[in-house]
Amino acid sequence: MINVKNYDINLNFDLKNLRYEGKVKIEIESDENEVILNAVNQKIRKILKDGKEIPFKYDGENIKIEGKFSGIIEIDFEKNIPYSLVGIYAIPYEGDNIISTQFEAAHAREMIPCIDHPAYKAVFKLTVNVDNGYDVISNMPYEKIEEEKGRKIYYFLPTPKMSTYLLYLGIGKFEEIKDKYKNIDIIVATPKGKISKGRFALEIAKKFLEFYEKYYGIPYSLPKLHLIAIPEFAFGAMENWGAITFREIALLADENSPLIQRKRIALTVAHEIAHMWFGNLVTMKWWNDLWLNESFATFMSYKAVDRCFPEWNVFYDFISAEYAPSMRKDSTSFTHSIEAKVEKPEEAEQIFDEISYGKGASILRMIESYLGEEVFMKGIREYLNKFKYSNATGNDLWDCLEKVSGKNVRKIMEDWIRKKGYPMIKAEIHENEIKISQSLFSFKEYYKELWPVPLTFEINGKTKEFLFEREEEKIDFEGKIETVKININKSGYYRVLYSNLKPVLSSKLSSFEKFGIINDYYAFFLKGLISHEDYVNLIKAFFNEKDRLVSNELSDQLFTLYLINEKKFKDLAIEFHKKQLKIWEEMKDENSRMLLGILSHRLAMIDENYAYEISGKIKDYDKIDPNLKQAIITAYAIANGEKAFFELLEKYRKEKFDEERERILIAMTFFKEPTLVLNTLSLALSGEIKKQDILRIIAASTRNLKAKKEVWNWFKIHVEFIRKPYLGTGIFGRILANIIPVIGVGIEEDVKNFFEKNKFEEAINGINEGLEMLEIFSRIAKL
Ligand SMILES: [Zn+2]
Repeated sequence: MINVKNYDINLNFDLKNLRYEGKVKIEIESDENEVILNAVNQKIRKILKDGKEIPFKYDGENIKIEGKFSGIIEIDFEKNIPYSLVGIYAIPYEGDNIISTQFEAAHAREMIPCIDHPAYKAVFKLTVNVDNGYDVISNMPYEKIEEEKGRKIYYFLPTPKMSTYLLYLGIGKFEEIKDKYKNIDIIVATPKGKISKGRFALEIAKKFLEFYEKYYGIPYSLPKLHLIAIPEFAFGAMENWGAITFREIALLADENSPLIQRKRIALTVAHEIAHMWFGNLVTMKWWNDLWLNESFATFMSYKAVDRCFPEWNVFYDFISAEYAPSMRKDSTSFTHSIEAKVEKPEEAEQIFDEISYGKGASILRMIESYLGEEVFMKGIREYLNKFKYSNATGNDLWDCLEKVSGKNVRKIMEDWIRKKGYPMIKAEIHENEIKISQSLFSFKEYYKELWPVPLTFEINGKTKEFLFEREEEKIDFEGKIETVKININKSGYYRVLYSNLKPVLSSKLSSFEKFGIINDYYAFFLKGLISHEDYVNLIKAFFNEKDRLVSNELSDQLFTLYLINEKKFKDLAIEFHKKQLKIWEEMKDENSRMLLGILSHRLAMIDENYAYEISGKIKDYDKIDPNLKQAIITAYAIANGEKAFFELLEKYRKEKFDEERERILIAMTFFKEPTLVLNTLSLALSGEIKKQDILRIIAASTRNLKAKKEVWNWFKIHVEFIRKPYLGTGIFGRILANIIPVIGVGIEEDVKNFFEKNKFEEAINGINEGLEMLEIFSRIAKL
């Protein structure tokens, strides 16, 4: 047994040369024969025990010290700070550098020697010595600052007991705005010149803190909460306790930002604040339960935003942004169970994906609807109280939910989190009975599997539910069955294939249910369970539908189908988008304007004539509805080629906020002329595109049918340059899963050969998933 009590960390920075010297005192009790400390790429000068130097071995990754002991180990070391995206890293900013950290899953060991494991919780006390003129931010407020010889020493208060991956250190010249919630200081910090867009995040953070304190029944544990915008950041955000970091676009907005942007910020801020309890106060024992953190924070973020902005209706966004993408991934053979196998912490990096976030959150939504909101909340409170400042597993959560509900939660949840994939329910509708059966739904795999499905359904307007656990079941009904729908409000994680859609389409369907039908039947079409003709007939019945969720989903499907098989689907996609634009142009509410922007952007990418038609609106660009800006600027690029390239490039170089910079870059991937698209991509090579955005911009350009061949060749040449900044993040694989199926259509052999020759180990799951989806898309391409 090894027990770590606290870390006393002293760091002395030489910012000009991007290096630091450190002294870390670790209080440890161990009865094992050796102590192993994780320490990556440091220069270990000496190690002291009770003031005396002791021998050790160091291989660049671990420090081994022989012998049992209790007391304080003192490590004297130094380290260079790289320009990267994980560990402790430097970011060039306006002629100077910002230093920031990103430790999840296993990168704390890159800053200091430590036992880098979520279950080894300890108290951290940090002292940081920097040049005058620099600000330092950490998890806790500082106790005092001392000045000496042109330098400043920050002494931070000790943290509560917490995991290593939650430690934070930021050094730079920051601007701040502050507010108070009860006694807690809420602070938004940005690099110089950007604080003007921090107000929105500050206001919502206050609302979310209040919401979570009420929901969890436990007050926030730290005296302050920082929300920090970081100019180079691999992920959306990171829940360091008391010092949450964000990529700029996930934190900064004002009243001129489109709704899609403000929603994204609200959901990200709400997600990270949810972690202050779920994840930080109570932490998973090991990374196999990563989903406990992520699913829960994802689910709660929608609850919090829904409570604070009911007019946004964010559970619609939950369905399209979390539920649907997770089901798509979970239909491939390269998915994984929610509770994943993780032997080494590096393996955890590949599972920050749709399954750990979206599927897990959808399963929690399903179990909440099975238990009831009130009971679910009580179970969560019980769990947090029981395990605060320590670690827990999925089973601990089920036990708490079981205790408060009296229902057999563990038995249901174990199957859902331990089996990969999900069921397809086949419903055979007869005159007065429905035969249902369940089997695995997967695009390619066939094997027997059963789940305990909390099945909800409605016959002739009467709703019922039961736990469907067997392979087959019969539902009897007295009287003639006129209308049927299964999976009420799409709250269950399964698809339904009906023998006959007529009684289903004659039911009174909610938005979620209409979405459910077209989303399920699209998957059935991709798998080949229904014909092209049946699919088209079904979706055409929804072309004039005035329903945000349906419209967004169909736009998504038709855009993808257009990318795969232009000949078959271009006209249909244009017809749909034109009909829908007429409907939404009339609406004034913000959600409708957001949808209008999405539809208009998609149509501009599909239909050149439409792009020409709207491109002239660029002259009023500063005054137009922000929701429409992306569509207009993309249309302008399509219609104006080289002239637009130079204008947009100049605009990009002058602009300081990422929201607009990203809009411009996306537009610049859509020129009709492939050379112009390659010119845009080469901005990545010259460092003009942030490291964090390179893959996103490449992914966007693969959606440009006029340039995708050239983009693929460019990708092959520069692949080493592209993947390097993402090592240690898992992002390269996740984006490849998304790029390969679209870019590969028509050049399947070339793409397969390339990835056979280049086995990028850190991305292998994503590559396999992408290649499998490519096979499915290739079949559609040949229709
Ligand atoms: Zn999270």
